[in-house]
Amino acid sequence: MAATSLLSAASKRLQGKVALITGGASGIGACTARVFAHHGAKVVIADIQDELGQSVSESIGPNCTYVHCDVTDESQVKNAVDKAAIIDGKLDIMFNNAGNSDEKKPRIIDNDKADFESILRLNVTGVFLGIKHASQVMIPRRSGCILSTASVASNVGGGATHAYACSKHAVVGLTKNAAVELGQFGIRVNCLSPFGVATPLASRVSGIEEEQEIENSVASLANLKHVILKAEDIANGALFLASDEGRYVSGHNILIDGGFSIANPSSHIFQYPEEP
Ligand code: NAD
Repeated sequence: MAATSLLSAASKRLQGKVALITGGASGIGACTARVFAHHGAKVVIADIQDELGQSVSESIGPNCTYVHCDVTDESQVKNAVDKAAIIDGKLDIMFNNAGNSDEKKPRIIDNDKADFESILRLNVTGVFLGIKHASQVMIPRRSGCILSTASVASNVGGGATHAYACSKHAVVGLTKNAAVELGQFGIRVNCLSPFGVATPLASRVSGIEEEQEIENSVASLANLKHVILKAEDIANGALFLASDEGRYVSGHNILIDGGFSIANPSSHIFQYPEEP
């Protein structure tokens, strides 16, 4: 093989793989769809925003398609998995990324049961259904990579609503349990936990529309300074886990948070008097 084709094979880290990405019409999911397709994967975007999903898929090119799928509806999840699996007779990567938050109501006494359950249905049951139906097609092939998007709210309290924090903790639990069960079939299961990324969801949660303003607000809370977290950083984490570089990584919650969730800014001793 010529050096240039060796190089291009190395740069296409998902060549020959088929990936299904829920919540792929927007934000982190759409960015991951682009990165996966760029690395040679055939990508299926599954979402409820049909027009947007369709146009994102067309902008990515012929190796990307769109399927309508409400992840809270089991028959729609099964249909999306089957649509992806029929492309090349397999599903290599399932990315359970669709999610949302309820409205911030700081006092638990003001939280409605219906809102709480609706977030759990989307953020937890949706992930459960994705893992279940992806496993169905991955088990016979004795290989597969299942990813889900959790959040820093899976690891620290107080940064999100009760329903959201609870749902993202549950994603980590599901990830660990499924990783243990599915390891015997060569299937790896991991989740990614981003800090704040400027997406429509972040905009809804923060009430800030301007992308730059969201990023500034996130940066002011961040532990890691002088770097702005982007959707590409989450997509690159997913790429690592989905590619052969991540072939022995399973059962983990990969925190892409610049150290936010292990820092305690109120008590750490490393404050410089002024920036050196
Ligand atoms: P986003 O709003 O841009 O994207 C979420 C996508 O999920 C949308 O396209 C939406 O249509 C889709 N979706 C919603 N309900 C659905 C359903 N029932 N079935 C199928 N699709 C559905 O938001 P995002 O920030 O890109 O969020 C992606 C994931 O990242 C979510 O799970 C979110 O909780 C998580 N996350 C986001 C941040 C952040 O700061 N943006 C931080 C941590 C975790």
